[in-house]
Amino acid sequence: MATPENAPRRSIAVLGAGIVGASTALALAAEGHAVTLIDRGEVGAGTSSGNAGGIVEGAVTPTATPDVLRSIPSYMFNPHGAAVLRPAYALRALPWLLRFIAAGRPARVASIAAALAELVSRSMPSHLALAEMSAALGAIRTVGWLKVYGSQAGFEGTALQRELMTRHGVNFTILNAREIAALEPNLNPDSYTCGLFQPGSGFVDHPRGLAEKYFTGAHARGAQFVQDNVLELRAAADGKITVRTENATRNFDAAVVATGAWSRRFAAQIGDRVSLDTERGYHISFAPDAGPLLNRPVGFPEKDCVLSPMHDGISVVSIDELAGLEAPPDYRRIRALVPFVRSVLPGTGAQTIQREWMGYRPSTPDSLPVIGRSPRCANVFYAFGHGHLGLTLAAITAQLVAALVAGRAAPFDLAPYRIDRF
Ligand SMILES: Cc1cc2nc3c(=O)[nH]c(=O)nc-3n(C[C@H](O)[C@H](O)[C@H](O)COP(=O)(O)OP(=O)(O)OC[C@H]3O[C@@H](n4cnc5c(N)ncnc54)[C@H](O)[C@@H]3O)c2cc1C
Repeated sequence: MATPENAPRRSIAVLGAGIVGASTALALAAEGHAVTLIDRGEVGAGTSSGNAGGIVEGAVTPTATPDVLRSIPSYMFNPHGAAVLRPAYALRALPWLLRFIAAGRPARVASIAAALAELVSRSMPSHLALAEMSAALGAIRTVGWLKVYGSQAGFEGTALQRELMTRHGVNFTILNAREIAALEPNLNPDSYTCGLFQPGSGFVDHPRGLAEKYFTGAHARGAQFVQDNVLELRAAADGKITVRTENATRNFDAAVVATGAWSRRFAAQIGDRVSLDTERGYHISFAPDAGPLLNRPVGFPEKDCVLSPMHDGISVVSIDELAGLEAPPDYRRIRALVPFVRSVLPGTGAQTIQREWMGYRPSTPDSLPVIGRSPRCANVFYAFGHGHLGLTLAAITAQLVAALVAGRAAPFDLAPYRIDRF
């Protein structure tokens, strides 16, 4: 294994300082590389700041499944649904949607789940390794991931998830109402009949803070942060990689594209095509008026939402909106969940709403990230497209990219994550 002592030291640009870019900067800096992390915003301040905080070891079920495919027509027409395709965007989303439909066939679901399992099963150890290097261990708590179901029918409707988790050795237990009450005494007991608990999953109540800590760890190992808008990524004739920003043009030995939902453009500049769109997601945050109301994130699958006890109050996190990168946010659907939140978690009843937020999940149609070396340019590496799982998968992605940069073999086959799989 390459170590800081024996690895060839290379200058590497990491484009994008979300959780994936910050993790990658740390993993590369820890191997002795001279890392420059570039973002037009602040570290971890974009999509990576507003998620539900789950490092979900059991997330082996892709977004596209036969059940989801059957529901697509209702997404188009249900004004209150948690998933929405804005009519004005439908035509532009069509190629992605057709691939999404293809990914939802049973045989594809099985192979995608296997590829997800390789990543999610390593998510916690990878994060803990990066956290140890960056004094961030306290930011990740192993409190588990809980889902509760209002009806037995709702629970039975998720049999595929349990089947896939069992197939891939995920540790989970089915809980009765008494056991849920013991874990989360502040939940309204009328809101659930049974639950599912993954005890090994982690929770980050301040995701932006974790990205900042990872970058601080990278900075302590010599990494620099440049706040600038990247305009162009180009392979120069001498094998160097040129990164042109609004304010400068710099050459590096290698570059990592970790610009989340905005990555397609940079891949295209290198000559790589990719199927990437954004599934926009929303949260509403309640201002706390007393102590913590929940001990961990709690998912309500029948309502397609998660309640998370973030560092600054309870967040209700939901919505999957295909509307591209330009359209303004539409908070109506997430606002419609507020009465539900107040009924299932009565402690929020008197709390005011302190924030409405939208972020851009960087999503491929097959729910697998793009991790690997560009087939067109040996010194460009990809680390984007993590969709619903960018926090979960950031650290293992960073470790894989560091291995590829160093020329080490990955611990498992990376073919399912290749950029040219579409
Ligand atoms: C509502 C919601 C809930 C979620 N819950 C979870 C969860 O519980 N667990 C989980 O694992 N995942 C969750 N996710 C997904 C997760 O948040 C994302 O997958 C993850 O944040 C993506 O990280 P990233 O670093 O790839 O992208 P980003 O955080 O979007 O970072 C990309 C960065 O690239 C920068 N950039 C883009 N273009 C340029 C440019 N031209 N020049 C310079 N910089 C540029 C941006 O400014 C940005 O900072 C959730 C997402 C949402 C929206």
